[in-house]
Amino acid sequence: IEGPLMDGMNIVGDLFGSGKMFLPQVVKSARVMKKAVAVLTPYIEQEKADRLAAGSADAADSAGAAKILLATVKGDVHDIGKNIVGVVLACNNYEIIDLGVMVPADKILKAAQEHQVDIIGLSGLITPSLDEMVYVAKEMQRQSISLPLLIGGATTSRTHTAVKIAPQFNLAPVVHVLDASRSVAVASSLLSENEQDKAAFEQQIHQEYEKIRKDRAARQVIKASIPLSAARANKHRLDWENYQPPAPLQPGIHRLDSFSLEELSQYIDWTPFFQSWQLAGKYPAILEDPVVGKEAQQLMKDAQQMLRTMIEQQWLKPQAVIGLFPANSVDDDDLLLYTDESRETPLMRLHHLRQQQQKAAGLPNFCLSDYVAPAPYRDWIGAFAVTAGIGIEAPIQAFEAAGDDYSSILLKALADRFAEALAEYVHALVRKTYWGYTPQEHLSNEELIREAYQGIRPAPGYPACPEHTEKRLLWELLRPDQQGILLTESCAMHPAASVSGWYLSHPSARYFGLGQIGPDQLEDYARRKGWTIEEAQKWLAPVLP
Ligand code: SAH
Repeated sequence: IEGPLMDGMNIVGDLFGSGKMFLPQVVKSARVMKKAVAVLTPYIEQEKADRLAAGSADAADSAGAAKILLATVKGDVHDIGKNIVGVVLACNNYEIIDLGVMVPADKILKAAQEHQVDIIGLSGLITPSLDEMVYVAKEMQRQSISLPLLIGGATTSRTHTAVKIAPQFNLAPVVHVLDASRSVAVASSLLSENEQDKAAFEQQIHQEYEKIRKDRAARQVIKASIPLSAARANKHRLDWENYQPPAPLQPGIHRLDSFSLEELSQYIDWTPFFQSWQLAGKYPAILEDPVVGKEAQQLMKDAQQMLRTMIEQQWLKPQAVIGLFPANSVDDDDLLLYTDESRETPLMRLHHLRQQQQKAAGLPNFCLSDYVAPAPYRDWIGAFAVTAGIGIEAPIQAFEAAGDDYSSILLKALADRFAEALAEYVHALVRKTYWGYTPQEHLSNEELIREAYQGIRPAPGYPACPEHTEKRLLWELLRPDQQGILLTESCAMHPAASVSGWYLSHPSARYFGLGQIGPDQLEDYARRKGWTIEEAQKWLAPVLP
């Protein structure tokens, strides 16, 4: 293991680090290593046992590789990126203790001490996890756990790490790690035997983060927002006098569970699949790319092969629930749903946020509620939740038991693709039949991916509606849990390969980014949600200055 295998992995690690080898090859190489180690381990154990029996315990046995603990924080299900980092670090001779997803702080810190790890790495995909990471850092400080802390995952950033996490913990460095290829360099600097190198790296991170904190404090003073009342006065005004919102042909809730994986596979958007393997480029052009083309083709071949098996053996059981309800926009930014067409009894109130930056002349301050008519006009909105993650556990466990991280990551990435394809497919069904406002629509997959249809499906947690707890209302409305689609305490969806959101039908409805909101909207939103300011600050943190 320490001879030819590690030598080989070192070459793989170097080539990856210098951009001459790509992630799929690295993960496959790691699979060879893991399988070889699995073959050799019983012999090593036997030798150890023999030596112990002969009374010559060997101290050198315990002096192993540096250990890195990895965990996705409580409430979050982010997995693929964390697994990739684990594999890449393992290729570079680190021992990885992967605690999996939804791991509470106390479990992370207990495991860190038990395994005597050298570094803790936290990952997260959704914004509430940022808070949880701050909490873990505070706990490390309180419990005097002086281990370097790595922060990674889609929702994290250098700025958040510098401004919110690092100040909570001063016993060891806190470092944001952008992607798997950076993780090796960071880990080796943090654990360098050369004290001078190590100190220089820590100093560099400290200065960099200090600068981020200062720049940010300066920016905050300059950045101004207009009052919420002015933003509301500049709402996107649609001409409801001359527009008739389409009434759903089949209102109410519909549960759908007989999907063909074969048919859904036609709706896959492959570009994000390559992104998840850190291969940049648009599909199908990526297959001919001068740099990554060959690797992309090989990956696609592997994906197609697994896809065929998934379809033949029905690994996943796609589930969807949709609902279409009478609704109006009320009090500027809320949406009121009614129990039935008499519109006398409110069913639920949804809350949206409004852009509050100073706009150029003629540009409105958008809010999703602007796309829904106020009373007395009659309008409707829809909601949906879909999953392609049910059934994934058994094959994942089989792959992991066989030391096959490559297939495990491939399957998770494909399940994510199926979830998005299912969302696209169901949205088309809604437009054509359930809501039925464009019954003649006939779009190719390219056109669907380009969103060349009428209406949008904004997802809570995304830029136009970044506040995650609105998903709790969506769950109350549709009860997706009845079909196995669950919400964690941070409002992440479980299984991870799930998508949910709202349907808006208006032809001019567009996605936008909310941007930062002012203290008046924070207060207003807290009141509308029945929250304290502290609660509102917690859930709105990503859009607060
Ligand atoms: N073809 C892509 C589709 C997913 S990304 C794929 O397979 O991955 C696009 C989805 O993200 C949209 O359908 C919407 O649900 C969500 N989304 C994108 N931008 C958004 C925004 N600004 N606000 C709210 N939701 C958004």
